[in-house]
Amino acid sequence: MVHARGVRKHYGKLEVLKGIDLTVERGQVCCLLGPSGSGKSTFLRCINHLEKVDGGRLAVDGHLVGYRRHGNRLHELREQEVAQRRREIGMVFQRFNLFPHMTALENVMEAPVRVSGVGRAEAHKTAQRLLDRVGLGDRAAHYPAHLSGGQQQRVAIARALAMKPKLMLFDEPTSALDPELVGDVLDVMRQLASDGMTMVVVTHEIGFAREVGDTAVFMDEGVVVEAGDPKRVLVQPEQERTRAFLAKVL
Ligand code: ADP
Ligand code: MG
Repeated sequence: MVHARGVRKHYGKLEVLKGIDLTVERGQVCCLLGPSGSGKSTFLRCINHLEKVDGGRLAVDGHLVGYRRHGNRLHELREQEVAQRRREIGMVFQRFNLFPHMTALENVMEAPVRVSGVGRAEAHKTAQRLLDRVGLGDRAAHYPAHLSGGQQQRVAIARALAMKPKLMLFDEPTSALDPELVGDVLDVMRQLASDGMTMVVVTHEIGFAREVGDTAVFMDEGVVVEAGDPKRVLVQPEQERTRAFLAKVL
């Protein structure tokens, strides 16, 4: 589902990604860990067409990000085509970014109705089902301001799922939450994983990465330091940098 080979990205003189290799198979959960500034968010943004890759190859579901193949030529995607591809990828951020003037249900209905042209009745039904799925069936009529951070984040997950994505990206989805609200969000993500969703999750929740991750990737300063089975990488890392990081977050 995600195939990165030698992916590079720089902002001016600052090299943020220095040749990232990473593979995420369909139905797998890849947990991305690493110190602040190591390039994790940038990499997610590249996968989601929010940043242009400067070098290497990055493909999502067999499509080179940013390009369309025509015969044996590559053409840069037009804006509309990028939008189309982005619809197939759900993204959940640290901050929930819900529309404050819409109820939970309306937040989840918004993109299917406005972007995909789904009828309101059908969108309503799907949104209610998704809110049930994230444990918020009884909060459908609540506005974000009247929901806890954890509940807002679960609405954000339901909202991303409403577009029927084939890949879900999570960028530190629990980092902004009070500790007692983290578990409910992780439970929803765990359920999503067991339902077979392909996921790339940037997280410092080592327990989650160990239990739910099919692979763990440790990044530092724009390179993959170590990757593999989370039960090895996060328990008996081979690299000193990984060990030092784990000692800090555990
Ligand atoms: P992480 O998510 O691992 O904390 P980021 O991908 O956010 O790391 O950032 C990696 C580096 O790139 C940091 O040094 C950050 O300051 C820099 N950076 C990120 N986005 C931009 C940008 N739009 N312009 C310039 N520098 C950026
Ligand atoms: Mg980040």
